Amino acid sequence: MQLNFIANEHAASASGRVIPVLDPSDGQAFDELQRSDARDIDAAVQAARACYEGAWARLSAADRGRLLYRLSVKVAEHADELTALEQRDCGKPTKQARADALALARYFEFYAGACDKFHGETIPYLDGYSVMTWREPHGVTGHVIPWNYPMQIFGRSVGGALAAGNCCVVKPAEDACLSLIRVAQLAAEVGFPAGAINIVTGYGHEVGDALARHPGIDHISFTGSPRVGTLIQQVAAERHCPVTLELGGKSPQIVFADADLDAAIPVLINAIVQNSGQTCSAGSRVLIEGSIYEPLLDRLGAAFEKLRVGPAAMDLDLGPLIRQTQQQRVWDFLSDAQTAGIPMVAQGQVVEEAPDSGFYQAPTLLRDVPVDHRIAQEEVFGPVLAAMRFDGEDDAVRLANATEFGLVAGVWTRDGSRQFRMAKRLRSGQVFINNYGAGGGVELPFGGVKSSGYGREKGFEALYGFTTLKTVAIRHG
Ligand code: NAD
Repeated sequence: MQLNFIANEHAASASGRVIPVLDPSDGQAFDELQRSDARDIDAAVQAARACYEGAWARLSAADRGRLLYRLSVKVAEHADELTALEQRDCGKPTKQARADALALARYFEFYAGACDKFHGETIPYLDGYSVMTWREPHGVTGHVIPWNYPMQIFGRSVGGALAAGNCCVVKPAEDACLSLIRVAQLAAEVGFPAGAINIVTGYGHEVGDALARHPGIDHISFTGSPRVGTLIQQVAAERHCPVTLELGGKSPQIVFADADLDAAIPVLINAIVQNSGQTCSAGSRVLIEGSIYEPLLDRLGAAFEKLRVGPAAMDLDLGPLIRQTQQQRVWDFLSDAQTAGIPMVAQGQVVEEAPDSGFYQAPTLLRDVPVDHRIAQEEVFGPVLAAMRFDGEDDAVRLANATEFGLVAGVWTRDGSRQFRMAKRLRSGQVFINNYGAGGGVELPFGGVKSSGYGREKGFEALYGFTTLKTVAIRHG
């Protein structure tokens, strides 16, 4: 039985109700978590506020950094345990779950070093004045986290908020809580004061909504779907609470005829099959220049046919999807594509060992997808790659920018001038040239434009979002 973690203590929810935890690899329940409500959020906010005004306020920036560094080391020491938890909870193949655990350690390491290097400025003003800006934490920050990368998103969001001097109330997704409850325990073990990190589990419309409405939350970091992002924004607007929104994507990978295809192909494939396509920045559209359209589709198709899907513990190319409704969602998209006559180039294989009760989906490559079809416009959130043909740079930019999203874009070309032109013309929070995701570096600011959200997390940039600026003007004569 999983409990909430409030003020460094395990706590049952006020309602006494629980939610079953399912293993996506076989669809069976193996644990339970607390179905919390507004009362539990209130207890967590009070704990966070007491910490923020007490033990946390007495720590210097360097001491906060030392705590974060200790947590980074502790997480790395427990990487195997966290990998096993994430694998069972989210269905991630071992190497992907392990990469998430190590990324979490690296986030804490990065933000440990950032604590005492973030400061304000002095501003030349009238004679007889001294003016300075102070970067101050918001106070108590709320973090609503999705199920697809719990550890990575906790690292970038909570890591940044703590480094900036806030105390945190975290609402993980109901489908993926286990690793984060454990990380909060590890934080307590390395000396984080009670109330610095609080975890409250439950359903979004109950406990997530209560967090967004709570007057004691001074800033909300939300990562999730555009639909819920809108709800959070509306609720937060009623009390003018600042929000960072990290939402969805329909990210294009644009391949010009002069690209190094040997380098591009494995990256194009990984960008859509990693985490079974359940990635905000999944490269879910591949735009291919006309003269290489057929040969590149042949090569991609051959590579797709070799992809294997199976239980997380088998550590294949893909694990299961998170839950049955997600599987149904992908089936609905594929059935709409079939009805529209969109040709399928190739599919991977679900292995025989995969139980029928698990939530498996073979990776699928579609071609000639019309730009206005929902497969080219909406987030499938599954391993479905939509190929489209373009002719020339203008056409590539037109297609790439033709969705409501603007999270990530990849460009593959050897032409240096074109690299800059494309980077300027793409409406996207990140542009990667001849790579995709830059290995996920924690140092690189991340966020979207348009319906992909606003505000930036990761890197030093996140610290601006997790602080407010106070201008202090002294007239001394
Ligand atoms: P979701 O929006 O359904 O849920 C996200 C979180 O919000 C969960 O913790 C959920 O419980 C909570 N929630 C649900 N309803 C709520 C409400 N009414 N009030 C407050 N909280 C509520 O998203 P999901 O299905 O868990 O995650 C997938 C989505 O997240 C995709 O759209 C994906 O692109 C996006 N995502 C974005 C990024 C990014 O960095 N931009 C990263 C990962 C995932």
